[in-house]
Amino acid sequence: MNTETIERIREKILNRTIYYTKKYIAWRDRVFKRDRFTCLWCGRRGGKLNAHHIKRKYNFPRLIYKVTNGITLCKKCHDKVYKKEDRYVAFFRRLVRLGVRKRYGKSSRKNDEGSK
Ligand SMILES: [Zn+2]
Repeated sequence: MNTETIERIREKILNRTIYYTKKYIAWRDRVFKRDRFTCLWCGRRGGKLNAHHIKRKYNFPRLIYKVTNGITLCKKCHDKVYKKEDRYVAFFRRLVRLGVRKRYGKSSRKNDEGSK
């Protein structure tokens, strides 16, 4: 097993231990509310959203509960980041700085799934 695989396994264990804690759920809710339940990448609102850790939980355990280290992503966008988290750090930080209001205006694009 290479280092990457071992890290991913350790991360899965870490995820299991924190995902159901009140602290984690509170963090996730704060991220979603700040981003108005909108994917900051594509602008999709509602649906299946993820609160993504910009800097990986595994490498930056101190940032796990920092709202500034979180970004709301829809499932589609979140899947794109998997195993490439490091490449998106600067980009996501910029999106968070811009925020949902500046980028998408008051009314975000509606969930357009199924219209394709
Ligand atoms: Zn998205």
